[in-house]
Amino acid sequence: MFHDCHAAGRLAALTPHFVALGDMLTYAFLEDGMTKMAAEIRIFPCLNDNYGYLIHDPATKATASIDAPEAAPVIKALEKEGWKLTDILVTHHHGDHVGGVAELKQKYNCRVIAPHDKAKAIADVDQRVKEGDTVKVGSLAARVLETPGHTLDHISYMFDGDKALFAADTLFSIGCGRVFEGNYPMMWDSLLKLRALPDDTRVYCGHEYTAANVKFALTIEPENAALKARAEEVAKQRAANQPTIPTLLGEEKKANVFLRADVPQVAANVGMSGKGAADVFGEIRERKNRS
Ligand code: ZN
Ligand code: FE
Repeated sequence: MFHDCHAAGRLAALTPHFVALGDMLTYAFLEDGMTKMAAEIRIFPCLNDNYGYLIHDPATKATASIDAPEAAPVIKALEKEGWKLTDILVTHHHGDHVGGVAELKQKYNCRVIAPHDKAKAIADVDQRVKEGDTVKVGSLAARVLETPGHTLDHISYMFDGDKALFAADTLFSIGCGRVFEGNYPMMWDSLLKLRALPDDTRVYCGHEYTAANVKFALTIEPENAALKARAEEVAKQRAANQPTIPTLLGEEKKANVFLRADVPQVAANVGMSGKGAADVFGEIRERKNRS
């Protein structure tokens, strides 16, 4: 499935079956060789520094909100597109991710999907999902990945067909979530699970924290060329008031120090050469907490 105009342009030369969606050509090839419209994803700010997301299936008109920090910006984004909310895919129980669920459920009678772990209550849930489950949004499919650490119930949603990962507060661009309920080995395992996804996966995370994350990461890896390049890009994006999200997972693998705790140079840089990756990760996370 191709999102970028360059890839779509190449495909347009191969097939007459293309559709213009907004200013972007979007494609997907099904196994039977037919083309299918790719998912449309919208990003918009919520609360102070959260992001809201809509993912829309043009084939069925189904639309999901990934989390619901607050209802009003989600409703505004839906109305701007003329979409109707069919599903809310909740990642974890924190208020800045579920604060809008009740109002949206009331307004749209949408289905609410939430993590299997019920230790912390989430209101209005219709369906609980766990590792390996598939959530359908119309004809789009999301694979559920349990990614505990920030909270014990945290899950991420991977739309394999669209190479889109909604990682909420597990993985940020050049950062990761604070480890509130789990422990460092648990969070490191969750990050490894996300790191194993394809490099061309687009990562949609819960917050716009990238500028602060870059500043911190440079204190650990001042010589990392990919990080320095990302720092320049982020400075430009923020100066232009643009989101730094989505980010490509392949770039995060090179530049995000929290995905790099098993790199010998990173361990050396925090004075922990030869120590286990989860311990090195814990040290980096604690330094970030203090930064
Ligand atoms: Zn959270
Ligand atoms: Fe959050």
